[in-house]
Amino acid sequence: MHQMTLAEIARGLADKKFSSEELTKVLLARITQLDPQLNSFISLTEDLAIEQAKAADARRANGESGALLGAPIAHKDLFCTQGIRTSCGSKMLDNFKAPYDATVVAKLAAAGAVTLGKTNMDEFAMGSANESSWYGAVKNPWNLEHVPGGSSGGSAAAVAARLLPAATATDTGGSIRQPAAFTNLTGLKPTYGRVSRWGMIAYASSLDQGGPLARTAEDCAILLQGMAGFDPNDSTSIDEPVPDYSAGLGDSLQGLRIGVPKEYFSAGLDPRIAELIQNSIRQLQKLGAVIKEISLPNMQHAIPAYYVIAPAEASSNLSRFDGVRFGHRCENPENLIDLYKRSRGEGFGAEVQRRIMVGAYALSAGYYDAYYLKAQKIRRLVKNDFMAAFNEVDIILGPTTPNPAWKLGAKNSDPVAAYLEDVYTITANLAGLPGLSMPAGFVDGLPVGVQLLAPYFQEGRLLNVAHQYQLNTDWHTRTPTGF
Ligand code: GLN
Repeated sequence: MHQMTLAEIARGLADKKFSSEELTKVLLARITQLDPQLNSFISLTEDLAIEQAKAADARRANGESGALLGAPIAHKDLFCTQGIRTSCGSKMLDNFKAPYDATVVAKLAAAGAVTLGKTNMDEFAMGSANESSWYGAVKNPWNLEHVPGGSSGGSAAAVAARLLPAATATDTGGSIRQPAAFTNLTGLKPTYGRVSRWGMIAYASSLDQGGPLARTAEDCAILLQGMAGFDPNDSTSIDEPVPDYSAGLGDSLQGLRIGVPKEYFSAGLDPRIAELIQNSIRQLQKLGAVIKEISLPNMQHAIPAYYVIAPAEASSNLSRFDGVRFGHRCENPENLIDLYKRSRGEGFGAEVQRRIMVGAYALSAGYYDAYYLKAQKIRRLVKNDFMAAFNEVDIILGPTTPNPAWKLGAKNSDPVAAYLEDVYTITANLAGLPGLSMPAGFVDGLPVGVQLLAPYFQEGRLLNVAHQYQLNTDWHTRTPTGF
């Protein structure tokens, strides 16, 4: 039962082969049995899950239908869930029970999805390895000595290990696509503004975007359908109609123009990954796509720009965690300043503190122009590169990551080494574009992802290309041994 995709579950529920309650119980038992190896969950919500599953079964019995009605999922633990701990992977929020549901959580619940729990993540979504969580590192089900990617590593590991079919995630600089690549999943970062950020604990507000992590493009279409749409509570949410993503999966790729940036195949890319990307290009050519070499000349500046802008926004967003209103408060403060200092010093981990300091420095008088403003100018150049490229091509293709999942601890002593791994993903966040990662093969038994980028609001195009690719390849069907 645990092998089923969301699409298969929807068919099984519609055909009354099993109930949502039965399926939910099977998956909860599987999580209890197998998750100790992975550490992919921070909280399990068994009672809520059974209650939601029963309600979904009752709605189906009353003649209602819908692809998410009775479908088990989990939420990355930065989506607020009313009355349930919402930790953001931090000691700071270990005691925080959200007073309301995030829009994404509320929308999916209304569609009938069943919440099995809250998944582990890098603290405040800062990281690419899921090692900065206060709840401990998450393991990659493909090799328990390797990281699953981050920051949505818990969602990725859980879905890859077949603990559940799909989960929500967020992507500020790659945190949906990179863990998807590291665990053989399909993950989609939507256009900035497509999915509401209301109730999604902010890391870098101008870059954060929620999206689906699942095993197939077909399932990402189902989950995105439940997440996307205008939200008056989020001033950056965009009032554009949401297309029927599942209905759009049947288009032929005949004549599709795929741009391959020459900058992507530089010295930093593992040659074995380059080879797999070439294979996926050949596969798409067989399906009728036309390949064109393009250039993204400002790509080299993207990492330094991102690692100024994201910490700058984080330093501002995280100032609300002061020991007064939310979360951790130190014992016996001597005065207000002592309360702030010790609550924040104790509540935040090393990586979060590093970024708050970098961000506060970049925003301070005298340095603002030199760092923050410069970074914003680079951001515009990165966007302009994409706009020029999309005049010539329909999608852009390349690797999701320069290397496969590294060993746990391998990059802990050198944060910049981890930052460099984000080279292919962060440009889409800087420009606000949608991007998808899908399985493209293996290197040393570890999964490799191919990334597709599209113009604004062309999530449907990404999902269709990935679906056509998945109809003709079987990488996405491979299961990690032991799960
Ligand atoms: N690795 C990037 C960072 O640490 C991206 C994280 C994310 O997308 N949340 O900022």
